[in-house]
Amino acid sequence: MRCDHCANDVPDGVFCTRCGADQGTTGELSRAKTRRHRYAAHPTEHVVQPSVFTTIFPHLGQQKIHEFRWAFAVGLAGILVLYVAGLVTAAILVAIFLVPVLYLIYLYEAQVYRDEPATVLGFTIGGGAVTGLVLTLIVRALYNPFPNVGNPLHNAGISVGALLFLGLTLPVLQEALKPLPALFLPKRSEFPETVDGLVFGIAAGLGFSVAESLVAISSALPALPAHVTPGNWIYDLATLAIFQPLLQSSATGMVVAAVWRYRRGRLARREAGGVAMAVIAHVAFALGTQLLNDVAIAQLFVLVWQAVVVGSLLIYVRYLLHHALLEEAAHMGYAETICPNCHMHIVASGFCPNCGMALTAAPAAVKRARKPVAAVKS
Ligand SMILES: [Zn+2]
Ligand SMILES: [Zn+2]
Repeated sequence: MRCDHCANDVPDGVFCTRCGADQGTTGELSRAKTRRHRYAAHPTEHVVQPSVFTTIFPHLGQQKIHEFRWAFAVGLAGILVLYVAGLVTAAILVAIFLVPVLYLIYLYEAQVYRDEPATVLGFTIGGGAVTGLVLTLIVRALYNPFPNVGNPLHNAGISVGALLFLGLTLPVLQEALKPLPALFLPKRSEFPETVDGLVFGIAAGLGFSVAESLVAISSALPALPAHVTPGNWIYDLATLAIFQPLLQSSATGMVVAAVWRYRRGRLARREAGGVAMAVIAHVAFALGTQLLNDVAIAQLFVLVWQAVVVGSLLIYVRYLLHHALLEEAAHMGYAETICPNCHMHIVASGFCPNCGMALTAAPAAVKRARKPVAAVKS
């Protein structure tokens, strides 16, 4: 059949395998083509949906996503158990490493690094961690606004200068430095897709987040006895385990993805907006957290604020990735393959004709197993 949107002859299906248009949509043509209701990396979701896993783990199919959600939930439950048992130090360490460890498993699962695991992991997670360690140590040596001992994540009553530094200067500085390791990745031409850039940026951001959090709490850890009566750490644990790593990783992911788009010759308003959004979200997160802590407002409001900022950032990442996938999946050639999302055996070019997933976001093993077919059977 002939696609109304890209005018190619394509096999029958709900989605056009060349341009990804949703043939099942009635009404406006633009709605079928931009298909905001069918997120290209995970077509059962809308683009505007603050879902964590289908955003920062874009290569995973339906079933794998569920496994990762479960693993994350189990990790959070483990942190809670350690906390209730009074093992606050252990709870803090698990909180810092939970998302980064899940991401390592994901990188292995999707083989995003293809044949270069050491180089890619070194330049993303490793490079991010080194950047985080060096920057955080230098900042603390030159300027330490935390004279009070005890819980170093709480600095009620800091000066306006310290507030501006922590809420404005430091986030901007971090957003400028965090993407660097991923941007200097050797053999970049082997990873041309924007979805690759996004994942590398996220990995670098997580490496940075681990190093930063470890330095931040290192002053408190030796002072804490092995068993502590659970105090007000529960909110900080939520920040450490969920919001801090998500903010640091998705902001850097977006910056690196925008640079990847630029290298493909497509820097438009959407990508420039992504970089601006990453910086604004980071400033809003840091400044808002400091201000709310400062006025000793209920800690729950700090978490609500962090969730709102991170949720908005994730939605912008999805918007950027969705359009990058729709544009970049167009010319893959016809091949027999199995869709990693709906598990149907398909003859497809860029998109699964059955569920509409962009096949550039398929795991490397699935891409390798593609068997090219010469003609379209229609
Ligand atoms: Zn089409
Ligand atoms: Zn499919």
